[in-house]
Amino acid sequence: MQDVLQLLQAQQDSMVQDLRTLVEIESPSRNAEQIRKVGDVVEGWLNLLGARSERIASSNGDHRLFRLPSPNPQRILILSHADTVWEMGTLSRLSFRIDGDRAYGPGSYDMKGGIVQAVWALKALQTRGMFPCQIDFLLTSDEEIGSRTSSGLIEELAQGAQAVLVIEPSNPGTYTLKTSRKGVGDFYVTVQGKAAHAGGQPEKGVNAILELSRQVLHVTALGTPSKGTTINVGVIHGGTASNVVPAEAWMHVDLRVTTLSEAQRVEEAMKSLHAFDERARVTVTGGLNRPPFERTEGTAHLYELAREVANSLGFVLGEDASGGGSDGNFTASIAPTLDGLGACGDGAHAEHEHVIVSEMPRRAALLAGLILALNPAPEETADPAASPE
Ligand SMILES: [Zn+2]
Repeated sequence: MQDVLQLLQAQQDSMVQDLRTLVEIESPSRNAEQIRKVGDVVEGWLNLLGARSERIASSNGDHRLFRLPSPNPQRILILSHADTVWEMGTLSRLSFRIDGDRAYGPGSYDMKGGIVQAVWALKALQTRGMFPCQIDFLLTSDEEIGSRTSSGLIEELAQGAQAVLVIEPSNPGTYTLKTSRKGVGDFYVTVQGKAAHAGGQPEKGVNAILELSRQVLHVTALGTPSKGTTINVGVIHGGTASNVVPAEAWMHVDLRVTTLSEAQRVEEAMKSLHAFDERARVTVTGGLNRPPFERTEGTAHLYELAREVANSLGFVLGEDASGGGSDGNFTASIAPTLDGLGACGDGAHAEHEHVIVSEMPRRAALLAGLILALNPAPEETADPAASPE
């Protein structure tokens, strides 16, 4: 693997240039035009490697699928997203810049650095003559807003895949891979009460805020932190004026779970909420939008292979769980999935978002090495650590 690493290290400046190109195309979720531009750039890069491009129409911007051929019928799915959480115009305030070993810019770490690394990993593999297996590189447009238009496509592409490699950022500081992620859900709870004059006839009113307050405590108590189930009432709203008994109030609730059974338990409890004050009416919408990504045997095996590849490249690779969701949550129960294979850095969704430049070639080599380790050439051994080149 050392030859691949050296090849990539020699291209570090080009990788940074490519990162700059992607960061300087601002691509907020729902901005189909800007997301198309990111897709066009990646298409240009992958077409040079012989990829066949497909567009899957979506109201949030088309999803792009780039398919790299191989005589080997095994197929690996690489998951990435073109959208960022940053609105248009952010660049005028936070421009792309290099400071020492860090490349700063909106979307650099989540996840344009990972996209660049993956493209260069594929370039490195192509120098070997042919790809070790078929590779589907999926670039979606709506990961940051819940993947509502892409989750079906992601699940479909994961069917029959040898592995799903998610190029979301590695954990900050430790640069570990992610072998499990919490499932994510959200709910809106709305209370209908009855308005009345707070001074004149308070007894004629039904205070929706009071009812909602009891629901806040009840819903929060559904969490079981010891099992990894946490519930956060993040937004509440209600009332119109201090002298009016409020007729309506609502809350927006975030749910995180590590197991599907916990998700089902909380979902059932939420769907059967009833009013403490029987004159009030409680309605609940929402549910689980990303199932938990549980650490399956397949994931553990992928991680083990990646660790061996890292060893052969001269670094130690750890694993970690994440409280946040990714598109890997949709695939973990369908095919062996490994996440956090993207950029090293820090500051996802924050102003200090950056990528560690010197890690880019190394992480690209890790991804290339993992694909090779999964599909060793017949004369090679299956154990990359045992056969350093
Ligand atoms: Zn991301």
